[in-house]
Amino acid sequence: CGIVGYVGNRPALQIVLDGLRRLEYRGYDSAGVAVIDDTVILTEKRAGKLANLEKALVERAGDGIAAGSTAIGHTRWATHGGPTDRNAHPHLSADGRVAVIHNGIIENFARLRAELEATGIEFVSDTDTECAAHLLAAEMRALRESGSDADGPHLLAEGMRRAVRRLEGAFTLLAIDVDVPDAVVAARRNSPLVVGRGDGESFLASDVAAFIEHTREAVELGQDQVVLITPAGIEITDFAGQPAAGKEFHIDWDA
Ligand code: GLU
Repeated sequence: CGIVGYVGNRPALQIVLDGLRRLEYRGYDSAGVAVIDDTVILTEKRAGKLANLEKALVERAGDGIAAGSTAIGHTRWATHGGPTDRNAHPHLSADGRVAVIHNGIIENFARLRAELEATGIEFVSDTDTECAAHLLAAEMRALRESGSDADGPHLLAEGMRRAVRRLEGAFTLLAIDVDVPDAVVAARRNSPLVVGRGDGESFLASDVAAFIEHTREAVELGQDQVVLITPAGIEITDFAGQPAAGKEFHIDWDA
């Protein structure tokens, strides 16, 4: 229901949690975050209020989750699978290398799930979203094996484009890959997504309220677009990979 992403040079966890709090008014039943810490993706997710998530995060303080500077965060309004810790987002690929959060509904998830299960993947949730994590991980593996000379962030954007071309329905999807530590990629169809341009940092959210205390320079993504954010800036394409432009605007209302 609420989506936030951050990449920059500050600790990302608190920025993402503050962003989620600003989206709380939309209602939700669970919340979760994923942070890149060097060589691993650390996640924490809980059914219930943000306070439950924050309590769990305090209990694990010291393991690096509060230090990483790339993170995604989600508040969920369950559509597929009950509001449990396990079904809360983020969802990880089987190897834990990719994490995904999602607003919306992937209509063809049952078919995708059957196809992925036939390749030996075991699903750990009842959500429609989890198939997107496995699909993206499979595309990233295939791209790396193909010997593509694209750099990590562009490989991630291409992986996302290939994955979302398989999806039907409505989605705002955000993803991180542990081997691409300074990037977050996102895609949208029939579901809102805005980007915030900062100074050496970039933001993603389902609503600008999540990042107005950090930047007022925003870009609204168009239908069927993919955006790659890094500390250096943002790059938008359509689902086929052609360069595209969102709608640039300045947020002039008060927080
Ligand atoms: N369909 C997804 C789920 O049930 C996402 C729901 C949402 O938009 O929060 O997990």
